[in-house]
Amino acid sequence: MTGPTLDQLRAQIDSLNQKLLELLNERLVLVQEVREVKERSSHRLYSPEREAQMLDQLLLSNKGPLTADKLRRIFKEVFTLSLDHMEAGKRRRLRVHRGPEDEDRIITVMGHSMGAEAQLIAGPCAVESLEQCDAVAARLQQLGGGFLRGGAFKPRTSPYSFQGLGVPALEILRQVADRYKLAVVTEVLDPRHVEAAARFADVFQVGTRNMYNYELLRLLGQAGKPVLLKRGFMATLEEFILAAEYIAKEGNEQIILCERGIRTHERWTRNTIDVSAVPLLRLETPFPVVVDVSHGTGRKDIMVPMARAALAAGAHGVMVEAHPTPGLALSDNAQQMDLDELAEFHRAVFCS
Ligand code: PEP
Ligand code: MN
Repeated sequence: MTGPTLDQLRAQIDSLNQKLLELLNERLVLVQEVREVKERSSHRLYSPEREAQMLDQLLLSNKGPLTADKLRRIFKEVFTLSLDHMEAGKRRRLRVHRGPEDEDRIITVMGHSMGAEAQLIAGPCAVESLEQCDAVAARLQQLGGGFLRGGAFKPRTSPYSFQGLGVPALEILRQVADRYKLAVVTEVLDPRHVEAAARFADVFQVGTRNMYNYELLRLLGQAGKPVLLKRGFMATLEEFILAAEYIAKEGNEQIILCERGIRTHERWTRNTIDVSAVPLLRLETPFPVVVDVSHGTGRKDIMVPMARAALAAGAHGVMVEAHPTPGLALSDNAQQMDLDELAEFHRAVFCS
């Protein structure tokens, strides 16, 4: 007596595969319904108790030959897939989510556009004087850069370090930017600064320490100017996108997302630039993405390759710190480039 042929067995396997596929899809459709019910009733999406219960039930009814261990592995995968699916569904409904028809968002200030060709945002860590800012802005303009950065309010790790010149620094930035037809990007640390900064800045920067300052994000959402939002140094991309949502929810969709490095165990760099954040943020949102290679690395000797990596990954621009005499800078003096270094950086990253 001959048993079924290999082809017949394979045909049965194919049909079981089809059934499994249909069941998995059917399950995902139900999972979406569960998500909607949970959201309406403010339940958490992830329920470890429910997962444990489902696994117990399955283990009890399992007649083999699937071993308990393999059953656990397979269903853990199915549960993770469901959770991912629920979370993706949630993200799809955010304002900052890139819809299938969405074009890249382009943000134009002072005639300079962010979101199309690669841009350079450069300037001192902190504004220290008119002469210092003027020198950087003049060189930036010569290089064809459009965005002048500079801190007026400095978030320093030590309360005894230089905290920035405050409003006089904003005045300097505006004066110099107007002279060289550049756009001003400057950080606001505190909701109390927003009004003053709005008078001088073209783009508000939210620093890494403030990505979770939801009150500040809300206010900037109402301030009617573009916001360059930096990723928190401990933030997941999910949290980063939700921080952007705080701004968008208030009606401001002029957002530039900035990867500036995250904290890892690595000590050879100041932070670790998460290059994969660039294509992921671009897939997930329509906003321009830039990478701050100064704070991201903390060292000048690898800024060129890191900037190239950022642009190759799809970034719309890079941010760097530059100072006429970095050795004398009042903050971040090791990572600021001098003006010739800035010109060389520009040549290597943008002209080769
Ligand atoms: C800055 O760009 O001036 C700054 C303080 O950066 P971060 O918030 O990324 O540390
Ligand atoms: Mn700095």
